[in-house]
Amino acid sequence: MIAHNRPTLGSEEHAATTRVLASGWVAQGSEVEAFERELCDFFNLPGGHAVVVSSGSAALYLALWALDGKNKKIGFPVYSCAALRNAVGLIGGQSVYLDCKGGGVNVDTEAALACSLDVLIAPSIFGIPVALPVAPNYKIIEDLAQSIGAKVRGERIGLRGEVGICSFYATKMMTTGGQGGAVISRDKALIDAVRDFREFDCRDDDKLRFNFQMTDLQAAVGRVQLNRLPEFIENREKWFAIYQSAGLDLLDDNSDGVEPVRYRMVMRCDEPSRVISVLASAGIKAIVPIETGELLDHPARHPVAAVLSKTTVSLPAYPGLGEDVVSRIARIAKGAS
Ligand SMILES: *Cc1c(COP(=O)(O)O)cnc(C)c1O
Repeated sequence: MIAHNRPTLGSEEHAATTRVLASGWVAQGSEVEAFERELCDFFNLPGGHAVVVSSGSAALYLALWALDGKNKKIGFPVYSCAALRNAVGLIGGQSVYLDCKGGGVNVDTEAALACSLDVLIAPSIFGIPVALPVAPNYKIIEDLAQSIGAKVRGERIGLRGEVGICSFYATKMMTTGGQGGAVISRDKALIDAVRDFREFDCRDDDKLRFNFQMTDLQAAVGRVQLNRLPEFIENREKWFAIYQSAGLDLLDDNSDGVEPVRYRMVMRCDEPSRVISVLASAGIKAIVPIETGELLDHPARHPVAAVLSKTTVSLPAYPGLGEDVVSRIARIAKGAS
């Protein structure tokens, strides 16, 4: 069976883990520091503006904590990942569930202006950059879990709001060896507060903190993957072009200056279950990317998200697939749709 998604790991990742294991230092240390520096370079930030942590969920929790999210009105799209609802619940915020903007997959950030939010969590779903208002009346956490490397007007997204978060889970755009995340911000005070929260041990005050640390073993893998990210993005772009030229109706955004990364290649179709079963009988795993039952609030209140969840299929998209395999998937998917 051709998997729907899998990480791209090779000899460089093996060498990096071997190097760290041989050093005898596997906990948070110099590899984590180096990974943070390299993330700052990647986002064109000065040193010290990135903190790596144990998961994207941890990063999201910390971003909400740094923005003082307790009891605040926190908006997020129902067409996203349960991590958003979990983080808002854990911080003790008031959840405000938002629908997608008509014609797209991302949260309607304009409609959100009327919700008197304190904070909006704005993911760029499937790698398609979310459109943000010019002068929002809420603070923004940009969620890059599916979209690290995407650009708007030539600049990498993630820093258009107060804070950005990344996920390095196994099957995201890049991984730190299974789990991992990062918090980034232009605001050094906010980043310093997040870093302080992570350094929970050997402190001389009684503030509450928590162990959200990443290990050097994970960071070493992350450094290799960050370096390979342009290659991953390029391969995904090639597969996207193959699917597109086969005539599949793929979710995309062609607006001026918007450069998605192809985290998920999602086709619109009338009967997802048929497309999925035809592909399955050809040994190819495709899925509904976000099922109706997975929406973070009742579907009847979110008509755009509800329709998306019933008319989409996500095709294999990971960098290691190869041109021939992608062409074959494209042909079969087209025939079934
Ligand atoms: C995966 C994901 C997260 C959570 O990241 P984890 O590292 O799995 O905790 C948050 N937001 C979005 C949009 C995601 O896709």
